Amino acid sequence: MTKETKSDKDYSIYFQPPSLKDAKKRGKEEIAVLYDFAIPEELKLFGAGKSYMIRTYGCQMNENDTETMKGLLEQMGYTETEDKEEADVILLNTCAIRENAEDKVFGELGHLKHLKTRNPGLVLGVCGCMSQEEAVVNRIMQKHAFVDLIFGTHNIHRLPILLRDASFSKESVVEVWSKEGDIIENLPRKRSGMKAWVNIMYGCDKFCTYCIVPYTRGKERSRRPQDVLAEVRDLARQGVQEITLLGQNVNAYGKDFDDINYLFGDLMDDIRKIDIPRIRFTTSHPRDFDDHLIEVLAKGGNLVEHIHLPVQSGSTEVLKLMSRKYTREQYLELVGKLKAAIPNVVMTTDIIVGFPNETEEQFEETLSLVREVGYDNAFTFIYSPRDGTPAAAMEDNVPMDVKKRRLQRLNDELMISARASNLKLKGEVVEVLVEGESKTNPDVLAGRTRTNKLVHFAGPKSLEGKMAFVRVTEANTWTLKGELVEEPLQLSV
Ligand code: SF4
Repeated sequence: MTKETKSDKDYSIYFQPPSLKDAKKRGKEEIAVLYDFAIPEELKLFGAGKSYMIRTYGCQMNENDTETMKGLLEQMGYTETEDKEEADVILLNTCAIRENAEDKVFGELGHLKHLKTRNPGLVLGVCGCMSQEEAVVNRIMQKHAFVDLIFGTHNIHRLPILLRDASFSKESVVEVWSKEGDIIENLPRKRSGMKAWVNIMYGCDKFCTYCIVPYTRGKERSRRPQDVLAEVRDLARQGVQEITLLGQNVNAYGKDFDDINYLFGDLMDDIRKIDIPRIRFTTSHPRDFDDHLIEVLAKGGNLVEHIHLPVQSGSTEVLKLMSRKYTREQYLELVGKLKAAIPNVVMTTDIIVGFPNETEEQFEETLSLVREVGYDNAFTFIYSPRDGTPAAAMEDNVPMDVKKRRLQRLNDELMISARASNLKLKGEVVEVLVEGESKTNPDVLAGRTRTNKLVHFAGPKSLEGKMAFVRVTEANTWTLKGELVEEPLQLSV
């Protein structure tokens, strides 16, 4: 059906605007866990003979949501395509964490406008974190009126209905829920490969001053332990080799239960007993990292010795402005405990440079913390304000050229520690989960160690999806090279 021109549209019919103001008022109402999701009978063949494409931006949480959307679409009869020219539905699953992530989406919308003109039957949708921001939704409605469908992070399960409405409606369909969202347990999901993500909780209550997530993803709410454990057991039965437990703040898991005393350490202790070779988690918050969790992680086995522990800054004053709720000293004390409890632990982190008011001395405290911890890798960013966050009201007073120089110095420091750590592995044998051919050389296999280091080595393609043992022959800053060996009596990482 051809849509009418959008200039005379009455958006208000469909527009339940997302509101940061409402999102800031954390509700006390109970979160319902729903187990009775089903695709409506009349929509089960809705997509027969049609194809879809989903473009995913941002973090693993979005990758995870994309798997759910793929599962929903395939239960409606759609098939996946990589070719946007042939797609009947294109969804952009967006990220709001940084300005450049948003710019990319608006750039892509510009390209898709031409496709939409050539193929008016195409349903074009925007979902994910950007859709939870009122300013973004308004901008799409006004400047990219060819978008057919906008929905948020709390109502993904409504995709089949919304897609039907968008296909038949002459108007854009906009449904974004500001409420925190329930937990819907039995949504379909399309997974592939030997690795899987398992969401254990949703939302975040930390309200770091620079971050939009507590507003776009709602309040912290944990899945019931029996549901998480059942999913992990099921993945074990399917032969999955590695699971990453996901949440904005995984180690706050269970803090919202008022009927049971069961926290992240308890969950890890139970998952440890399930027969899956590797269990990871991301992302953790230093403030919620308790001693029981460290004790459990120290048991090793399938709990890998890699901790991603975002620090954001090495200066207590800056941490205070960021409302991170820990000091430099507390962070370092925690790292000390982790290193003492888990031999060979590999630490990675996230760091922001150029936060409002960050002085040269405060930035140097970040450099010295990086040296002290000896990270193996880090995601490093230049601060940019996000609309609606408390930090956006602070003066963004560190000049861009200073921010860029600080980022470069920080990355130089990280390269030194990453290289030093990799050099220690030269000559050692590491366990590698083989992912497939190297992206740059099809004659070489690529895989990851337990500590998530990328390893290249020559070997048979039949190893894909399996564990291999590799002696490290060359250690570069971010990658290792090696040769295949027999299973050793003792392993490094
Ligand atoms: S812990 Fe802070 S940075 Fe992480 S998602 Fe929550 S508010 Fe954002």
